[in-house]
Amino acid sequence: MNTTVVDAQNLARHYEVSRGSFKKPVVLKALDGASFTLDIGKTLAVVGESGCGKSTLARLVTMIEPPTAGDLVIDGIDVVRAGADERRKLRAKVQIVFQNPYGSLNPRQKIGSTLEEPLKINTDMAAPARRAAAAAMLDQVGLRPEHYQRYPHMFSGGQRQRIAIARALMLNPSILVLDEPVSALDVSIQAQVLNILADLQDKMHLSYLFISHDLAVVKHVADDIMVMYLGRPVETGSAAAILETPKHPYTKALLSATPIADPAHRKERIRLEGELPSPIDPPSGCPFHPRCRYAETRCRIEVPAERASGEQNVACHGVEEGRI
Ligand code: SF4
Repeated sequence: MNTTVVDAQNLARHYEVSRGSFKKPVVLKALDGASFTLDIGKTLAVVGESGCGKSTLARLVTMIEPPTAGDLVIDGIDVVRAGADERRKLRAKVQIVFQNPYGSLNPRQKIGSTLEEPLKINTDMAAPARRAAAAAMLDQVGLRPEHYQRYPHMFSGGQRQRIAIARALMLNPSILVLDEPVSALDVSIQAQVLNILADLQDKMHLSYLFISHDLAVVKHVADDIMVMYLGRPVETGSAAAILETPKHPYTKALLSATPIADPAHRKERIRLEGELPSPIDPPSGCPFHPRCRYAETRCRIEVPAERASGEQNVACHGVEEGRI
């Protein structure tokens, strides 16, 4: 049985950026060759600093934008070559939850009607059935029946994110793209929302593409992790392998900055020097080389390819040569 629900190969998204009337536009490579798979009922976490391409990836998987190059197969359907009808069906299967639930909810719409809206647009369900489905979904995300009649401003941030999750689930999708879903919430509330997501995943066999800059959050949810830097994956593998034995210098630096409760396991903090370079003018060779303490001549010239190293795939000359 095929357990893969998303299969992406060399996925890229480039944009032309104008530099004024007399200059040629430049190409911004927001995503430049990401390959990964997501299995049914599993969570793939995509991790990296802002600008690494993770939100572009979310837009491609949710079909908000088409890829510039590469292959994307969702639920057995080739997204790039699919007809309008197939893409419409596929869109119902892939839903997205954004970081800011207040921004994604209509302030003038009662929660009940917000939840019923996707059913109204995409199905021929009668009003009583829609209402029953919305009430059942409120219960699934831990909200009460009386919340059906309330407006978004009457809820806390955590409750609003539950509503956003509930709305995303109304069409019974198989994939949720969670774009920094708990980053705007207090730490205590984050745990509640993560627990609800875990329960829903079990009950509904959902697959999550979990986008985050925060490895402390990812630790609690991920089956697999893909670490990205400047539009490319630099390390991919099981969460256990990457969290226990990170190999790429960038992954190591991100992990060293993650707070650890147990003082016995405290690690040396690796400081990342400098800023993330602009994707409009990326460094030559390995894009991480200006910030890497292991950079050598080859790193400044040759882009490292992702290669198997132990249990994970790593794009690093230093790892390939055995000097890291
Ligand atoms: Fe550092 Fe070179 Fe590896 Fe890039 S390829 S991460 S510069 S050692």
